Amino acid sequence: MWLPQAFREAPRLDESLQTLPPTPRHALLINPFYPKDPHASFGKHVLTPSLALTSIAASTPPEWEVEYWDENLLLGPPPCDPFPEVVGITVHLTFANRAYELARWYRARGAKVVLGGLHAISCPDEVAPHADAIAIGEGVQLWGEILSDVDRHQLKPVYHGSYRKPYRDDPPPRRDLLPRESFLTTSSLIATRGCHNRCDFCYLATDGLHMPYLLRDVEQIAQEFHDDDQPYAVFIDNNLGSRPEYLLELCRALQPLEKIWSAAVSIDVTDDPELVREMALAGCTGVFVGFESLQNENIVASHKKSPRTDDYARRVGVFHDNGIQVNGSFVLGFDHDRPDVFAHTAEWIEQNRLECATFHILTPYPGTPLFRQMEQDGRILHRDWSKYDTAHVVFKPRQMTIDELADGYAWCYHRLFSHRSIWRRRPKDPRSVLPYLAMSYLYKRSNWFWHFLIRNRLTARVWRPLVESTRRRHIRFRQRLREPNCGRPASQIISAGV
Ligand code: SF4
Repeated sequence: MWLPQAFREAPRLDESLQTLPPTPRHALLINPFYPKDPHASFGKHVLTPSLALTSIAASTPPEWEVEYWDENLLLGPPPCDPFPEVVGITVHLTFANRAYELARWYRARGAKVVLGGLHAISCPDEVAPHADAIAIGEGVQLWGEILSDVDRHQLKPVYHGSYRKPYRDDPPPRRDLLPRESFLTTSSLIATRGCHNRCDFCYLATDGLHMPYLLRDVEQIAQEFHDDDQPYAVFIDNNLGSRPEYLLELCRALQPLEKIWSAAVSIDVTDDPELVREMALAGCTGVFVGFESLQNENIVASHKKSPRTDDYARRVGVFHDNGIQVNGSFVLGFDHDRPDVFAHTAEWIEQNRLECATFHILTPYPGTPLFRQMEQDGRILHRDWSKYDTAHVVFKPRQMTIDELADGYAWCYHRLFSHRSIWRRRPKDPRSVLPYLAMSYLYKRSNWFWHFLIRNRLTARVWRPLVESTRRRHIRFRQRLREPNCGRPASQIISAGV
């Protein structure tokens, strides 16, 4: 499988480089490199920027300068001129080693390094020795305090931030720091925090992560979307549909913007087809749905509150009837999965014409109930966190071999991106087939093209006209959806999903 070096290996840090002394009150925030899965689309890495770092940047005290660097944009190692006094680095388990490498490099040259992110919550003892300070919990609350402590030469080794504090008062993210040309859209938005579920395998179930369900004012979100000059936004909420009455209110606030957006929702949002229609009228063109498994036993065993899996197909139809494309997420390797799970899942996806799907090998994240259970049962294979990326098998599956699970995962992607599968999943309305095919081939079968776009900072320039034309088609679609006698399924009145 083709995987260029730039997607496999982090940019080299020059060990012999002599840097200038740190510039006082200059801070640098880094999103470290992580290796890409050659089975999936490279496009997903530049869809939208991490909101975590731009939100933290927004809480920088005015007397400080702040820079942002995302190593995944393939622009080389992070900058060092001016050399920062403080470097903040996000640490997730799959790129923890790269974060430590960066921390060592900057510390050796005189910078103070602060490490935060999910891995600092789940494994603080592992992270702490690599940093001058670690931030556990909500970084937006802590960043200003950390920089003030640096000013006073009183940096503490550990800072704790609570996710319980309402975040409506947080300043808007510093999108001005982003290289706008490098992302499909810079409008990553967040409306809610947390999820009404607590599935055993989800990172939200990590010990020490107390994230109650919080909501932002809908007007605030609409204003943020309006102010960022982009036709398309991605909601990065874990589950935008946890509170249906709030989602309805949000949809009403977004409607006048005449823009398009996509979001992750749980399938139970289809309990109310009228709400799904409101989503479409507000500009929703696609949803990311965590189906996880088509086996009820797997859903029950992981403590996910979800409708029965034999009702999933009807519920996919509710989205399609409102012109909303469905990107289904499936986890492979649950205890009730046998070797036939791969073919069965692929067949179901095609029968129900899911426009897109993502596959994940079941991964027991440290600190979750799933990890504890597997550790107790002696099923954890190793603790090489870089392989805990849902593309590698890190535990002993119950009803198949390790190789069967690894090969089955690769086969699912191979099948999904095949001409045959793309064609079988085309929309029912013939007039929607061409835009669907164009998007499918550009997104799923053009990794060489993505490599070219990312390296040459052309992502926004090439995609923007396509997204803008989708937005215009969707506005026409909404007008038809509003027609009072429009009783027929919207999939028959030309859907316009991105
Ligand atoms: S529904 Fe999704 S986001 Fe919510 S806890 Fe389960 S896996 Fe996590």
